[in-house]
Amino acid sequence: MQDAKSGKDRIKIIVAVAIFIAAAGFAWYQFGGESDYDRSVIRGYLCNECQTPFDHTPKEGDIEPLKCPNCKAMAGYQAELCYWTKGPDGQWKAKLKPTYVILKQRIDHTSREQTYCPDCGHEVVGHNPKPSDDEMAAAEAEAGKR
Ligand SMILES: [Zn+2]
Ligand SMILES: [Zn+2]
Repeated sequence: MQDAKSGKDRIKIIVAVAIFIAAAGFAWYQFGGESDYDRSVIRGYLCNECQTPFDHTPKEGDIEPLKCPNCKAMAGYQAELCYWTKGPDGQWKAKLKPTYVILKQRIDHTSREQTYCPDCGHEVVGHNPKPSDDEMAAAEAEAGKR
C-alpha cells in the first residue's frame, strides 16, 4: 500500500501549506496591507507641469515635488480644492467638481504672494474652505436641473 501512504502525506503537506498561506494573508491584512487608514490618506495632488490631478499615498520620506504619474516630471504638489466658479452675472457660486490649485507657497516657500484660482479667480488659501452647505446644496440643485 505504498501509493495510499504517499497520497496521505501529500494531502498533509497541502493542508499545511494552505494553513501557512491563510495565516500569512491574515497577518498581512492585520498589519498594514489594505486597511481603511491607508485608503484615507490618499489626497489630491496636482502636477505643475501637465496640470493633471493625481492621487498619492504619502509614505515616510516623501518630499515634494513628487513624480507625476502622467508626464513623469518631478512636479507634483498637494493641491487645494477650489469649489467656486463665476456665474454669468460675475458673482461667485459653488460648484460640485473642484478645481485643483497649487498654492504659490507650496512651490516656493519664500513666496508671500497670494494664490488665485486660475479657473474662477477666487483666492485660494491653505486648507481652502469649502463653500457653505447652502451654497453646495444650490450647486447640487442646479446640476440636477441640467
Ligand atoms: Zn505631469
Ligand atoms: Zn476656482
